[in-house]
Amino acid sequence: MAVDSTTSSPLGPPACEKDAKALQFIEDMTKNCDPVQENVLSEILSQNAATEYLQQWNLDGATDRKTFKSKVPVISYDDLLPYVNRIANGDRSPILSSHPISEFLTSSGTSAGERKLMPTIAAEMDRRQKLYSLLMPVMNLYVPGLDKGKGLYFLFIKAEAKTPSGLVARPVLTSYYKSQQFKTRPFDPYNVYTSPNETILCVDAFQSMYSQMLCGLLFREEVLRCGAVFASGLVRAIKFLQLNWQQLAMDVESGNLSNKITDSSIRECVSKILKPNPELAQFIREECCDGNWEGIITRIWPNTKYLDVIVTGAMAQYIPILDYYSGNLPKTCTMYASSECYFGLNLTPMVKPSEVCYTIMPNMGYFEFIPHDPENPVTISRDSPPQLLDLADLELGKEYELVISTYSGLCRYRVGDILQVKGFHNSAPQFKFIRRKNVLLSIDADKTDETELQAAIDNASVLLKEFNTTVVEYTSYGDTKTIPGHYVIYWELLMKDPANGPPENMLAQCCLAMEEALNSVYRQSRVADNSIGPLEIRVVKNGTFEELMDYAISRGASINQYKVPRCVTFTPIMELLDSRVVSAHFSPAAPHWTSERRF
Ligand code: AMP
Repeated sequence: MAVDSTTSSPLGPPACEKDAKALQFIEDMTKNCDPVQENVLSEILSQNAATEYLQQWNLDGATDRKTFKSKVPVISYDDLLPYVNRIANGDRSPILSSHPISEFLTSSGTSAGERKLMPTIAAEMDRRQKLYSLLMPVMNLYVPGLDKGKGLYFLFIKAEAKTPSGLVARPVLTSYYKSQQFKTRPFDPYNVYTSPNETILCVDAFQSMYSQMLCGLLFREEVLRCGAVFASGLVRAIKFLQLNWQQLAMDVESGNLSNKITDSSIRECVSKILKPNPELAQFIREECCDGNWEGIITRIWPNTKYLDVIVTGAMAQYIPILDYYSGNLPKTCTMYASSECYFGLNLTPMVKPSEVCYTIMPNMGYFEFIPHDPENPVTISRDSPPQLLDLADLELGKEYELVISTYSGLCRYRVGDILQVKGFHNSAPQFKFIRRKNVLLSIDADKTDETELQAAIDNASVLLKEFNTTVVEYTSYGDTKTIPGHYVIYWELLMKDPANGPPENMLAQCCLAMEEALNSVYRQSRVADNSIGPLEIRVVKNGTFEELMDYAISRGASINQYKVPRCVTFTPIMELLDSRVVSAHFSPAAPHWTSERRF
């Protein structure tokens, strides 16, 4: 559709009238960042003025930033937990939000081993939908013709739980894919997926992946972009193809769906598009049979223009394998979001992963920032509240920790993400995602911190006692060279009686004991999603950790302040560790996990 030049946007010429409106919205929001933020806070505070949470801070009806900042404390999940528990147990009074809590969104961040529960209200879905609606208009500025084909996206739902009072608790994407906004979305030529809704809405990870891959193969020439939410999801999909191409080719050849797919809605919808196609089956076999996976994405889907996956933050570890699979196709990181709140989008999605910046949309919530200087950490206490900055106050090059207040009732909540200002679009800062605080290991959605890793070590150490053996030092590493990736834990052991040390099977049991102690997101990824492989313990020679210290000191570390790093990523250190390995052991079974959760 030709677009009138009067509707052209500073971001670039929109592809259609609808895009012009979306781009104009981005311009309006980013030009008026500060007034929009002021207004959002005022709306949140007036909407939730009568809630128990806000009442206790005696705002007396004030909705301005100054009063809010002086009276309302900055909090973390532990502060929120008593309120969350009451809602989960059925208290329907306006505790955090004056609007009814429609469900809990379960974050991949955990507390006491379980996913954090984020209360949400129905209206938030529209706000999220609004952010989604801005993504393609931006993409269309850079990649023309996306309305001439389809997107192959591997999208999944996960198991839901119910709180004692019957509220649903599920991940935000599960909530979104199951929503009417997604299921009955109007036809948009720029947003046509190869995966029918039914294939996405199946909770069985194998059946969902199988049917989505099959549909992707059937429409292979129409596919213009391939993606998953996070890079790990796309890597997993290619691994799935490696393991299942023979069966997939058989289905394509015969036109009959494998009987491993038992979900009746998938069978019904796939049967409408699956017809015998021996030529395509032959093609799949030829491309997959020799075990060469280099460039497999562009070989099977030759018209793919880019990979739509997040490769920032912990996902950066998957860039090399995606480059290998796709012959270096651009990887677009389109948005930055969380269970608590969707934050913003990338206005220049074709840049290199290292240059990706996200522009927080000021209409999504009220955002504040704690200056982050690792050398001079700010102490946050209720008695001496720090001076938090607004979106409009941030300085180029500086790092900040994100704090949010949302329409659902989170007030000055620390998300835990560290961001750095890399530029501005109009008056809106553009952020590089630096890292999430306290995350040591992450392969997929899992986020394991130092305390959790220590608890896992402690759990496994119990098994070593009867062999008079203790773990004297340890460190860890997220190995993504295997697919799926897995945790590697390096152990230096002290055996009081080496002749009667722990046998091989006991060390394998130690791997499992560690997994049993890790949080539920880790265990779900291991058991239900198969997105993390068995944990590995590599026992290293005695003295290895001392060598590690010598190495660090030779590179300038202070001998007095040296601490064993609990996670390593620096290649020379890993090479040193690997060269000292005396034995390696893998978890012999999957740890325990059920979709039921503790409340
Ligand atoms: P969850 O609440 O489980 O949805 O996880 C949200 C967290 O995932 C965020 O707070 C970030 O730490 C991380 N995350 C989300 N989007 C991105 C992104 N585009 N780049 C890097 N990390 C991200």
